[in-house]
Amino acid sequence: MTTDKLHDALITRQQKGVYRTRKKIHNQKNARVRVDDKTLINFCSNDYLGLAVNEKVIRAFQQQADEMGVGSGSAHLICGHSTVHHALEEELADFTGRERSLLFSTGYMANLGTITALCKHGDSVFEDKLNHASLLDGGLFSGATFRRYPHNDTTRLSQLLSTTTDSEKMIITDGVFSMDGDVADLRTLSILAREHDAWLMVDDAHGLGVLGQTGGGIVETLSLSPHDVPILMGTLGKAFGTFGAFISGSHTLIETLIQSARSYIYTTALPPAIAQATRVSLKIVIEETWRREKLQALITQFTAGARQLGLPLMPSNTPIQPLLVGESVCALEMSEKLFEAGFLVSAIRPPTVPQGKARLRITLSALHESEDVNQLLETLAIIHRSYSYNVK
Ligand SMILES: *Cc1c(COP(=O)(O)O)cnc(C)c1O
Repeated sequence: MTTDKLHDALITRQQKGVYRTRKKIHNQKNARVRVDDKTLINFCSNDYLGLAVNEKVIRAFQQQADEMGVGSGSAHLICGHSTVHHALEEELADFTGRERSLLFSTGYMANLGTITALCKHGDSVFEDKLNHASLLDGGLFSGATFRRYPHNDTTRLSQLLSTTTDSEKMIITDGVFSMDGDVADLRTLSILAREHDAWLMVDDAHGLGVLGQTGGGIVETLSLSPHDVPILMGTLGKAFGTFGAFISGSHTLIETLIQSARSYIYTTALPPAIAQATRVSLKIVIEETWRREKLQALITQFTAGARQLGLPLMPSNTPIQPLLVGESVCALEMSEKLFEAGFLVSAIRPPTVPQGKARLRITLSALHESEDVNQLLETLAIIHRSYSYNVK
């Protein structure tokens, strides 16, 4: 009986165009992936700088695995914390200009663990409506009063803050919004946080490595200090090309998380080989500025080309360039048409994005060549013409 109900729910999902499936990728090289016997240009990876397939990063991973094995064997607080984990934490603290950093096994866990360690029943969390699911879940799990403000609406946030009498307050936001590609108004948020004696936590999963002179992300582009943004979160599975995540902040913040972030304490530490590979990729992120420059040139080429073709791009200057479609079924069909034409572009549908705002989430990488972007634009123009848009 229960299974029947699940089955019906799955059918309904399919009819609405929001059924999720997985493509089996068996090889990735440069910006090309192999799916079955087809080679596709990948325009949906978060490997913005191409470091997931970088030879030096791969070699570091292999050498460390030879030395330490594959698994870390335990949580950090038992016997899973290696010298290479520790060195990476120190290097990430330097990179972000903060006193300390703490590694988590995933970004999802970093967000869940940090918010729940700092907020509880009787406190308030304030979140942008378009925040990543892990930030929203962290806020909900914490038991604090959960308040969401319309996307980047700092006026509304200010009102909410003024009418709150809860003891602790925490403002939480994506730096670069993961499904939209636009950025948070961090300067205003940091002023509001100070005025209302609230924490400010910024998840810069898509900005670190990509934005700023040294890849320091949105806080570097805006010259915001640790005082302005006391809790900075970054992921390692995107621009860094490896896996895992970290929180950067004060010594006191990090020690507090070590004592009480449950998703830090009760889980196996990242493989040390991942930590060592990330140390090498961090060096490349900082030193090889040509990767960011090339990426920026591709972004400019893509946005200018798309504008000329009249494609409904969303306002974004980052490698996340969503094409707004509207209806889920339509977005899915367009993604399939692109697949047939040799491009891997995923259709992002509710509940990941709001109802009626399904989109193709196109991402650019320093691995792409100008010719790849030209080909994508030509194909998008053809597919776009054959679809009537239904954007709300
Ligand atoms: C990807 C992402 C996460 C989750 O990071 P994982 O390491 O993949 O778990 C968190 N926040 C944002 C904004 C993300 O884009």
